Amino acid sequence: MKYRKLSYFDEFHCRAGECPENCCRGWQIPLAEEDLTRYREMKGEKALGLNLRILLGGKDPFLNPTGGKCPYLLEKEGLCELQKKRGEEYLPLVCKLFPRRQINYGPVTEQSLFLSCVEASRLFLEHESGLHYIEDENGPDLPVYGDNDDEAYFRRVEESRERILELLDDTCVGNAPEAADGFYGFEEALKRIRRYAGALQDACIRYDSERLRELCENPVPVYGKEDADEEKQPDKSLFPLPITVLNELMSTRFYQKKMKEKIPELYRLCHVYFRIFDPLTEEAGQERFDELLSAYLRAGGRTSKYVHYLQYYLLTYYGEVFEDYSFTRRIDYGILHTNMLLLMDLCRFAEAGQKLPDLISEARTLAVYEKRGLHSRDLQREMYDVFTKYYLGR
Ligand code: SF4
Repeated sequence: MKYRKLSYFDEFHCRAGECPENCCRGWQIPLAEEDLTRYREMKGEKALGLNLRILLGGKDPFLNPTGGKCPYLLEKEGLCELQKKRGEEYLPLVCKLFPRRQINYGPVTEQSLFLSCVEASRLFLEHESGLHYIEDENGPDLPVYGDNDDEAYFRRVEESRERILELLDDTCVGNAPEAADGFYGFEEALKRIRRYAGALQDACIRYDSERLRELCENPVPVYGKEDADEEKQPDKSLFPLPITVLNELMSTRFYQKKMKEKIPELYRLCHVYFRIFDPLTEEAGQERFDELLSAYLRAGGRTSKYVHYLQYYLLTYYGEVFEDYSFTRRIDYGILHTNMLLLMDLCRFAEAGQKLPDLISEARTLAVYEKRGLHSRDLQREMYDVFTKYYLGR
């Protein structure tokens, strides 16, 4: 068994009372079996309420069934009452682990940090230009995720991720000639990556292990016009996506009125978007988006940030292809989240009178976007359907 972790994984320390986006609100806090055992032994008034919630929760109890504020969050201090009064061992397991994402794929355990934590986002922004995994001799003892035990295929998944990361490094960041030229290099790289993912997917569907090996062991091909397959790989912009597609993504269940209570920062950014784009026709909306983007880049908005975000996404989530064999879906998710992050950044930029945010505000945008956009399978599926309708016409 090998262990690997993001290079800055060990730097994470919860900001606790200093945190501007406390994770104790905005989502349900599930309770594990070991939490239930401990809480059933607790005494006192609060313990009664807690055990009632456990009882009413049936098979899947939550500390806060409605997903609002955790009843144990001490608002003024921003601290957890359970932890403060009874000690760290009384924190629910999920709170002890968050924002660590630890997955045992069988041959390897990978450890990353969810960016839905503002401190993890801040660390990401600080380290974004050198993202990589480091090998570790030891790691957590976790049950294996899923039931795929095909180690040879796992190696192919790892190799294909390495190829994609190499392409992003070579063509979009550092000294790459396109890096300074708006998003041109990134847009071209994304088209190659999407086509590459399609080829990996085809090889899998046809059980063509020789073709899969060839694709995974060699650099991502440069596809020429003669390779175009209008049906499967249309020549459409992937970054930035047209405003019509972003409008549709915003019209999914992404925005919810109850965000006002649960994720107020994201609620505000969404309302900036509504104020700017709702009154405009599609054409005028596209013009306004382009103007805002140009102003953002002129003010010093980093094009490389979106490349690095996709790299983070791949390092953290691409391994799931081992379980679901869905190369294209994983890439499409990465592309659509990267686009939504840009949209949220532009909303923050517009709200601040076209000034770039400081590091913590930038981290908050990323954290609140991830909190809503990446942790609901149903919502991601809905957003994915919008993306594929645009990209593949179905
Ligand atoms: S969001 Fe991160 S830093 Fe803030 S309280 Fe939660 S774990 Fe701590």
